[in-house]
Amino acid sequence: MVKDELLMIPGPTFLAESTLKAMSRQMISHRGKETGALLTSCIERLKEVFRTENDLFILTASGTGAMEAAIANIVEPGDKVLCTTCGKFSERFKKIAEVFGAQVIEVSSEWGNAIDPEKVKAALDENGDVKAVTVTHNETSTGVRNHVEEISRIVKSHGALLIVDAISSMGGDHVPVDDWEIDLCLAGSQKCFAIPPGLSFISVSDEAWEVIKRTKRKAFYFDLVNYKKSLEKTPPQTPYTIAITLLYALDDALNLMFDEGLDNVIARHHRVAKLARDGIKSIGLKLFPVREEICSVTVTAVKMPEGINDQELRQKVREHGVVISGGQDKLTGEIFRIGHMGRVTEREINITLKAIKQALSDLKFPLKEEALIQK
Ligand SMILES: *Cc1c(COP(=O)(O)O)cnc(C)c1O
Repeated sequence: MVKDELLMIPGPTFLAESTLKAMSRQMISHRGKETGALLTSCIERLKEVFRTENDLFILTASGTGAMEAAIANIVEPGDKVLCTTCGKFSERFKKIAEVFGAQVIEVSSEWGNAIDPEKVKAALDENGDVKAVTVTHNETSTGVRNHVEEISRIVKSHGALLIVDAISSMGGDHVPVDDWEIDLCLAGSQKCFAIPPGLSFISVSDEAWEVIKRTKRKAFYFDLVNYKKSLEKTPPQTPYTIAITLLYALDDALNLMFDEGLDNVIARHHRVAKLARDGIKSIGLKLFPVREEICSVTVTAVKMPEGINDQELRQKVREHGVVISGGQDKLTGEIFRIGHMGRVTEREINITLKAIKQALSDLKFPLKEEALIQK
C-alpha cells in the first residue's frame, strides 16, 4: 500500500500505530510463561467480545482455517449438514462440508438477500437427523447480515449444532454467542479486530464438545481436542507454534477495544455504517442488499451505477487516496464494497465518500446535489 492511502476494504483493515509498534517486539519462547500469560489474557478478553463462557481457542490460520476446524471436528462422512448460502463466503462452508464427506442440504437465497428462517425450518422439518447448520452472520460478499438469533431458535428446537461464521462481524457488531446459543462461532483477525491476517478465533460449546468426542475426526492441525489439552497445560499453550507477533498485535488491539468500551465499539460501527449508507444514497447510488434492514454494519455493498466501469471507478477512487473493493464471483463488475470495520470512524467514511464523489464526477456521472458529504 502506498503511504497515506486509506484502506477501506472489508479486511485486511488498517492498523493503529500502537498495534504496528507492538509487533516490532523481540521473540519469546512459544511455550514459556510469558506467552502463556499473553494467551490467557487474550482468550479471557476474546470471550468477553464473544459474550461467551464457552471454551475459546486462537488458531494460527486465516478465517477459512477456523471454518475448516469447525467442520473437521464435527463432520464424519455421510453426516447431514444444512448449509445456508447467500453469497461467496456462505458457499465456502458448503464446499468445506463437502470435502469432509457431508451430505449437504442447501438452503439458499439470492445474493443480496438474507436467509429466510422459514426455509431453514422447512428443510429441518423435512430432513431428520441434521447434525449441524452453518450460517454466515455477515455475508461480506454481498453486504448482508443474517438473522442468526431467529435461525438459532429453529436450529435449537431441532437439536442440531449451530455453526456461525462471524468472521467479518465479531468485534464490530453485536454477536452474543451464549444468548444466541451458537455452538461453534468463528472470527478472524484482519477484520474488526484490526490486526494483520493470520489468526482466527473459535468458540466451542459443551454441546459441541459432546459431538466432537464421539466423532471420528479427520483433523490433525485443527484437532480442537489438542487445543484444549494444550491450553490446560502449565503454562497454557497451543499445540503448534502460535504466531507470537500476531499475539502481541492482538493484545494491543484488545487493549484499544476495551479502552473504548465494547458497547461503544459496536455503537461506532453502527454509526459509521449508517453514515456510509446515507452518503451513498445522497450521491444518487443504490445499495446492493434488497432491504436496508438487512444491511451489514461492517461492509456496505453498492450497485455499480449505469454506464460506469467498475475497475475504472476503483482506479479513480484510488487516485483520490482511498482503496475500496469490487464484487466477487458473479458480482464482479456489478457492485463495489466499502469496508468499515475495525478502527474506522466518521472521518474515514467522509474521506471515502468524498473520494467516490470526486471519482464519479471525473467519470462524468450525474451526481445528486443534496450530497451529505462534509469537507
Ligand atoms: C474474510 C472472510 C472469510 C475468510 O477469511 P480468510 O481470512 O480470508 O480466510 C470467511 N468468511 C467471511 C464472512 C469473511 O468475511
